[in-house]
Amino acid sequence: MAAPLPDSLLALVKESPPIPQARLQLQALLDGDLESGARAYVRSGLWHVWREIVRFRGLSIPEGVEELRRGEEASFALWAFDNGLEEEGDFGYRLSLQRHVREKHNDPETNVLFLDHRLRLGQFEEVIATVKRIEDEHDFVPDEIMRAVRAHLALGQTDEATKKLTAIRARNLDSGEIWAFTAIASKKTGDLAMAAVAQEECVRLGIFDEALEREFLDSLGISPTEWEVLRQNYKFPALDWEAAARTWWRNPGATLKPTSAPSSHWFGGEDYRMPACPGCGLPIRQWFLLDIRAIEPLAKKLPRWSAFPLLGCVECGVWMGRHDYAVDPERMEVRLLNVAISTKDYGERFRESPKVPPIPTQFVRLEWFPPRTYPDEEEPDTETPWNSLHLGGSPYWVQLPQDYYCPQCRRKMVFVAAMTSTTGFEPYIPINNESGFQYHWACNDCGILSVIAQWT
Ligand SMILES: [Zn+2]
Ligand SMILES: [Zn+2]
Repeated sequence: MAAPLPDSLLALVKESPPIPQARLQLQALLDGDLESGARAYVRSGLWHVWREIVRFRGLSIPEGVEELRRGEEASFALWAFDNGLEEEGDFGYRLSLQRHVREKHNDPETNVLFLDHRLRLGQFEEVIATVKRIEDEHDFVPDEIMRAVRAHLALGQTDEATKKLTAIRARNLDSGEIWAFTAIASKKTGDLAMAAVAQEECVRLGIFDEALEREFLDSLGISPTEWEVLRQNYKFPALDWEAAARTWWRNPGATLKPTSAPSSHWFGGEDYRMPACPGCGLPIRQWFLLDIRAIEPLAKKLPRWSAFPLLGCVECGVWMGRHDYAVDPERMEVRLLNVAISTKDYGERFRESPKVPPIPTQFVRLEWFPPRTYPDEEEPDTETPWNSLHLGGSPYWVQLPQDYYCPQCRRKMVFVAAMTSTTGFEPYIPINNESGFQYHWACNDCGILSVIAQWT
């Protein structure tokens, strides 16, 4: 017979809300199987009951925390902080961090909750040290670094704060969040010129994080109504599949088809000297080579461009983040300028032998889609080619944001092509794990090519 539960614990169990999904575990608890019983309270986040069970089992709270699964220790820690149990919270968070580091996994959401908590407590040195540890492990962690910048600012270390902020901004110049934070920080350090630049960037890029948006508006003394007016020309469109299809069909551009006739565009080849992928180290590949001069709508918008590569790496996961390249068609050389994603977290090679063998040059021709009104009443079955490579028209089906800006001159870039998996071509190139596109954008004046992933 199991020892009966003490009255204090029984009372807690009775007081706490019913846990319908965990009836079995609750029964286990009443039957004296404390370990299984405790799980009911872990799942439902009733940490005060869980804590009593741990104690009744004769364990210390840290011992109990060590038994928790990944993620649970973090939610316990948050609860502990909220309830003034600093030491227990600390233990839970440190364990969570250790486990993430061990599994090479980063969890920015949990990290920022804890870092914000420590910032509120004024533990600035601790914030800086924690962020450094996360950064060493994961390379590009802008959300966490913004917390370290806050800590540096609170300690009056303006130079250090500016240095860190400049470095993360350079890796993702189209992040409204980083610019909003830049505006806040610049206002604090009295750099009003930078605050004004950052505000302009926020107007067109938007700020997705609502709490940060509020802080930005407060800090710059902009009312929500004024902000509405400033943003009106840059409002994010609603993400609507039908509307996206309508827009695309108005200006669908062309797709690429194999051809035996000589052409100024081709599949494969190794015309451009390519940089190494910053993740897996294998060369970035030239998938197609387009002659912009022979594609009328693009030649008009990009008169300085000629040989334009559709490029990328499918051997690791770094394709998920934006890549900026400098393309030199005279020297036939591509330089990688920047990658807006952690190359450590996503850079591991998927497998030993490359997925795509060398691709011999094969001519391709452009096949223009006839523009149409969508949905088409005469041809109601018209399908929108979700998975067609397309170029020279509008981008099709987009996640937000929809406009991209040149990292050098900050002017709007031109949409060139949506590279996708190459059905109908040999060898087959699986783009974005066979779902979605790699959008290629170009700046006419700077010769910069930016590639952005879009997927479901
Ligand atoms: Zn790679
Ligand atoms: Zn530019």
